[in-house]
Amino acid sequence: MADLAISGSVLREGRFTDAVVVVADGRVAAVEPAGTHVDAAERVRLADDAVLLPGLVDTHVHVNEPGRTEWEGFATATRAAAAGGVTTLLDMPLNSIPPTVDPDALAVKRRAADGQCHVDVGFWGGAVPSSLGRLRALAEEGVFGFKCFLVDSGVPEFPPLDHDQLDRALAEVASFDGLMVVHAEDPGVLADAPAGGGPSYAAFVGSRPHQAEDVAISGLLDLARTHGARVHVLHLASASALPLLAQARADGVRVSVETCPHYLTVSAEEVPDGHTEFKCCPPIRDAANRDALWQALVDGVIDCVVSDHSPSTVDLKRLDTGDFGQAWGGVASLQLGLPLVWTAARERGIGLERVVGWMAAGPAALAGLAGKGAIEPGCDADLVAFAPEASFVVDPQRLHHRNPVTPYAGRRLSGVVRDVWLRGDRIVADGAVTPEPLGRLLEKERP
Ligand SMILES: [Zn+2]
Repeated sequence: MADLAISGSVLREGRFTDAVVVVADGRVAAVEPAGTHVDAAERVRLADDAVLLPGLVDTHVHVNEPGRTEWEGFATATRAAAAGGVTTLLDMPLNSIPPTVDPDALAVKRRAADGQCHVDVGFWGGAVPSSLGRLRALAEEGVFGFKCFLVDSGVPEFPPLDHDQLDRALAEVASFDGLMVVHAEDPGVLADAPAGGGPSYAAFVGSRPHQAEDVAISGLLDLARTHGARVHVLHLASASALPLLAQARADGVRVSVETCPHYLTVSAEEVPDGHTEFKCCPPIRDAANRDALWQALVDGVIDCVVSDHSPSTVDLKRLDTGDFGQAWGGVASLQLGLPLVWTAARERGIGLERVVGWMAAGPAALAGLAGKGAIEPGCDADLVAFAPEASFVVDPQRLHHRNPVTPYAGRRLSGVVRDVWLRGDRIVADGAVTPEPLGRLLEKERP
């Protein structure tokens, strides 16, 4: 007898079909045609306005624990993830103390996370100048790849790589066929840009121009080409880099690209001066740029949409002074990604199946998370009952992340996450996250 059978409209192989998803031992055992009788301990019939999606995979989350747990933590971040239909997240190596740059630091982070997680959690390693030559050792401990910065990261314990160090790091990562994920802004371009402090959003954008991304991405692509290294461009905000990326892919360079909900759902014209809850780096750019990012998703030049959930304390966001120069750069949206992107997609006539592809299968493929991001026999039974036409208004007090700061307060969004199953166990029931943390810590297969 199966453990669970869920019947209704199921997203599978890129389209919705009426089916019965059969779950046994935490995995999808079978997907049967609608009406098939299945012996199961529990049967769920989806409401008429709901569909069944694979659990989302968010490969860009800053949990910040240990060390900056007042900014965020494993319990709060993973509750937010569960409530948002994200059943797997990968934690970034920085903003925690210590940063995840060696095997000892990874062990510290695993101990901090253990027993607190409501969804499955894996870890990125960090590539900083002092870790060069020792990346393989960290890869052998099960990180999913390495993150580096080319500019100041915002925290002193995670310094950037210069051009020569990036060259060495990519050679090293390529030697064991690893993955390097890159915060691509060029320090020279930023140094030459106007300073941009104060409450003016236009001045802030002027201080982080699109050329900073374009120059950094161009340099990264050259090195990836030289070394045959696999690279991934994090949080692409600049649409003017898209032709470079498309050309590199056409040439066979091993590059993938992500963007984030804030770049797709907000434009610079809409950001009021002094509203530092919208500050992130690279910045949200103008409406024409946003439209071009959507087109690149549709065309397949951008592979993934992930949150870059990067919260801080309320104080550090400087909401009191509204100074974009001083405020922490980061937008917290782990719980809202799916409804944010879906609301904007449907206004553009883009189907839910495409949105889920960018937010589940795309990130799973990036990280090499076999068994995640799809509803297929053998995959983990990570499932989301989602009501696409239902709507809600964002109330910061109902968000589970630690500090109730959000640029989306008061927005009406389409799409409500009703129930979520993690490996067959219900972790969200009618919108409420269940108390027991059932998430596991994930490790990538060793090189
Ligand atoms: Zn980030």
